[in-house]
Order: sequence, then C-alpha cells, then structure tokens
Amino acid sequence: MIDITLKSNIDKLVLNSYSSVYLLSSSLYSNTKEYVNYILKLICCENNVCNECDKCSKINENNYEDFLYISNTMIKVEDVENLLDMFKKNSLSNSKRVFIIEQIENMNLSSSNRLLKYLEEMKGKDYGILTTYNISKCLQTIVSRASIIKLPLLSIKERENELKLKTPNYEVLANLSLPLEEIYKLIADDKFNKLFDVSKKIYETLMIGNEKVLVIFKKNKKLFDNNICLLIDLLNIFYKINDKYKQLLIFETYKSRMVSNINMELLLYSLIIELEREK
Ligand SMILES: [Zn+2]
Repeated sequence: MIDITLKSNIDKLVLNSYSSVYLLSSSLYSNTKEYVNYILKLICCENNVCNECDKCSKINENNYEDFLYISNTMIKVEDVENLLDMFKKNSLSNSKRVFIIEQIENMNLSSSNRLLKYLEEMKGKDYGILTTYNISKCLQTIVSRASIIKLPLLSIKERENELKLKTPNYEVLANLSLPLEEIYKLIADDKFNKLFDVSKKIYETLMIGNEKVLVIFKKNKKLFDNNICLLIDLLNIFYKINDKYKQLLIFETYKSRMVSNINMELLLYSLIIELEREK
C-alpha cells in the first residue's frame, strides 16, 4: 500500500516536474518496489496511473524492459557506462526515458562519479529513479542532486499482508531482515524453500525434544553450505513467532558471536545443543 499523504507529495513532485531524479530512501522494512513502480506509472502512463494500459500492466509485473534498469548488489562502473551508452543511442526518440538504479549505496566511488556526471548533464525528458537502504553511504553529491523521498516503515503485519498473496509461509518470512523484493526472490528459489522446510523440521524436532536433529543435519548438510546464517535466522523466527522467550535469549548471545572468520558450522552445532537443553 502506498501511504496516502506521501502519494500526494509524490504526485506533485513528479507531475509538476520540479525535479526529474528521485531518490527513494528507505529501510529494509519498506515496500520500496511499490513506490518505484508508482513513480514509473506517474511518469509513463498516459491515463493518470490507470493500472490498465500496457505500460501500467508491465510495470505492475515488475517488467522493466522499457527502462534502463540496474539492480545488482555490486554496481560496477561498466554497468553505469552501459546504461548511459544506451541512453545516448536512444537520444533521438521522442518518448520519456527513465533509468532505475536500485541500492545506489552499493556503487563504488568511480561508478558514483560517473552517474553524477550524467545527472549533471540530464535533459528534459529523462528521469531517474534511485533507491537506497542506507542514505548515509551514498555519494553526497548524488543525494543533493535528487529529490529525496523518505519511505515509511512497514510493520510486520503489513509485510505479512504483502507476502500473503505469494506464500503460505508469510508469517515467518515477514520477519526476515530482508527487503520484500529479496524475499520474493527467495520464495521463487527451490533451494530456499527446501531450507525453509528443513529449518521448520529442525524447530519442531527441537520442541518435541527427541534426538533426531543431528540426523536431519547430516541428511541436509549440502543444503546448509553458505546458508547457515539464513538457517539460524529462520530458526530464530520460529521461536519468536511461537513466543519461546527463553530460547530467544540464547539467539541473542549467538548473534553477537556471528562475526566474520568464525566457523559457522561449529557455531550452529553449539547453538542447537543449547536449544536442546532449553526445550
Ligand atoms: Zn496506465
């Protein structure tokens, strides 16, 4: 859901063309994608965000083929160069052009500077939508060139409602410390769904208190590779939504121990042993 007050501010900002570069500043718990799509529709739909035309339909499906779109966790200078090259090639076209760059805090200094140079030269029909989860990490000269739109946080309940349509596991997944769009990617990933099922099984086994947890581990060892943090997060959430306060305290102490260089597998085993004791 788009916040109503914010919506009218965004409408004014975009429709009156006060600015053509928007920076959506949000936290992991915002529905950033929804706002990106809303602004895109404001710019491109010829019927005042009708949600019915071809353009609106594509945008609602997160189909950005008509735009220049970068969404990488690591944004390289080549990505920005490619984007700007494509813009130059299309410069004769008469329609509005929009580029979208998600999570600009992940751009290194040279990519940021390249983008800044482009922003300084931007022409009338061009628009840019940038997003960030950490505005303090963005190049300040880019921030000052953009209209900043600060997005509200979604409560866990609101995140559940967003996820409800996509997965039966919405109650657990709404609690993951990840942006909704990352959670959508996880839902579509078979490996993650398997990990989810296994973590649920581990939780249930721990709660019943029989000895089969280690068997489950051995069986699924491959699945846990590189995913131990996620597994611990999921287990933590199962305890949280079932109000198991004693065990939650154990997770707190383990979180502070999850630093780089630590052997995650050993950490997980010792966590499980403590959880077994506390059943
Ligand atoms: Zn439309």
